[in-house]
Amino acid sequence: MLTLTNRSKVVVKKQMTFWEKLYIPAILGGLRITFSHFFKKKATISYPEVQREFAPVYRGQHVLKRDENGAERCTSCGLCAVACPAEAITMTSAERKPGEENLYREEKYAATYEINMLRCIFCGLCEEACPKEAIFLTDRIVPSADLRKNFVYGKNKLVEPIEKEKRISVARRQTEDVSEFKKQPNVAHNKLFEGKKLK
Ligand code: SF4
Ligand code: SF4
Repeated sequence: MLTLTNRSKVVVKKQMTFWEKLYIPAILGGLRITFSHFFKKKATISYPEVQREFAPVYRGQHVLKRDENGAERCTSCGLCAVACPAEAITMTSAERKPGEENLYREEKYAATYEINMLRCIFCGLCEEACPKEAIFLTDRIVPSADLRKNFVYGKNKLVEPIEKEKRISVARRQTEDVSEFKKQPNVAHNKLFEGKKLK
């Protein structure tokens, strides 16, 4: 057969030697490698009892933040979904009713908000795009699951608890660069936060 490149090789089925047919040298070679690892430093750790140190820039499971009064910050503007290169975010919007001011900070809020963790590449662009400082990536690991549908996280998993002592800290995501950015008066949403660091 004619080939388009000259990289093709004819594969020859080599006859095994007498020692190769015995298999014993190969088995002994394998055992030697296995035993040699008994005396080397372990490459693995006993997770979850032992956990590795996270890099400062680690990006894990998202959180949808509440404001200091416990109201959801997200106004369902959709900018995070537009910014997401993996198209992992979907949401539906609803209008806040009188009396719900303590639940939702803005007049429009996300009635449903979902992130497909199997699609997400944890790039952090949703966090960057959000004008309301509502979504952050945290240093939490997305737990394993055996059904694909269990990786679609809704508001029940994404919105942080209302109790102040149970809130999810995003302090590690508030780097000096972020703090400096928030001080810029020409950026509209900075007026809302006046350079404050989120806890
Ligand atoms: S971290 Fe990146 S991929 Fe994941 S939801 Fe946010 S924008 Fe999409
Ligand atoms: S998380 Fe932020 S960017 Fe995404 S819809 Fe809510 S307010 Fe908009």
